[in-house]
Amino acid sequence: MKNYELMKSILEKIKSYQRIIIFRHYRPDGDAVGSTKGLQRILQLSFPEKEIYLQNSDFCDYMAFLGKEDEPIDESLYESALGIVVDTGTADRASNKKFSLCKEIIKIDHHIDIKPYGDISWVEEERSSSCEMIAKFYDSFKDELVLDKEGATYIYTGMVTDSGRFRYHSVSGETLRLAGMLLDFGIDTDTLYANLYLDEYNALKFKAYVYNNMKMTDNGVVYIYVDRRMQKRFGLTSEQASNVISSLDSIRGSLIWLAFIDGKKGDNAIRVRLRSRFVTVNTLAEKYSGGGHDCAAGATVHSKKEMKALIADADARLAKYKSENEGWL
Ligand code: AMP
Repeated sequence: MKNYELMKSILEKIKSYQRIIIFRHYRPDGDAVGSTKGLQRILQLSFPEKEIYLQNSDFCDYMAFLGKEDEPIDESLYESALGIVVDTGTADRASNKKFSLCKEIIKIDHHIDIKPYGDISWVEEERSSSCEMIAKFYDSFKDELVLDKEGATYIYTGMVTDSGRFRYHSVSGETLRLAGMLLDFGIDTDTLYANLYLDEYNALKFKAYVYNNMKMTDNGVVYIYVDRRMQKRFGLTSEQASNVISSLDSIRGSLIWLAFIDGKKGDNAIRVRLRSRFVTVNTLAEKYSGGGHDCAAGATVHSKKEMKALIADADARLAKYKSENEGWL
């Protein structure tokens, strides 16, 4: 089915259900939170007689300024509901595994569709964010759907965060046209950008520490290991510790950068965040129980030995890329 037909069939399904439950992936980011809250807002405004819930099992400190999600509802309410899972590439990444209890499931996503799921699946891998898809959905049926400044703010937030402030190559003319449509609702961008980008004093101290302690391999892979001791010293939440990856993204010649982040005490899993420009890293992540987009992926290692192996792997890939390509920076 073409994307317009898919969107149309999603709208028809929404109309045919009294109860709709919206889900997103665990460890949410701006796009996961923004797209689900934005969709909920659109559906609440457009169909005030329907019950529209947002049911997830974890939170995102970083996005707390967008407001709370819904309290858990009774499990028995799932079986007659339509479930819409947004921004969640595979079913096992869902924050709330109970989504599968819903009578029918719709998937809306922009990640690579490696393990499809859902009765209707609208996936556009080239979109810069799931929020962009929600904006497109609204824009396609705006005679029938309602959006306001609050909803536009949710959706715009995810578009900004998932596109690196509209810098990534997934940003198209349509991305900006849809963002423009949202801005016209009167979004308070001063407050939004302050919420997104102001740093705590301690966080900047941590950044300074990161720049003093990051390492670079022979071929330019930059990496940092944020162990538990470091997290304690700077009083970091796991969210703040994970955000270290963005500090490493502007180093000339370093086309791959990695952050290793210790989990909670007693958990020996080390979260890996992989980022790159020009060269792809998702296939590397797949070797280490992960996956993701070409230039933004995640993985997990369980020991320093495995960490070293991943770094060596990344270094070899970067060496190969640099030897075979020109024009990289
Ligand atoms: P993150 O560094 O966690 O923000 O991950 C970057 C991207 O990689 C996300 O958008 C996810 O789609 C993907 N990703 C992260 N972890 C995994 C995983 N374990 N398996 C598959 N994809 C992942």
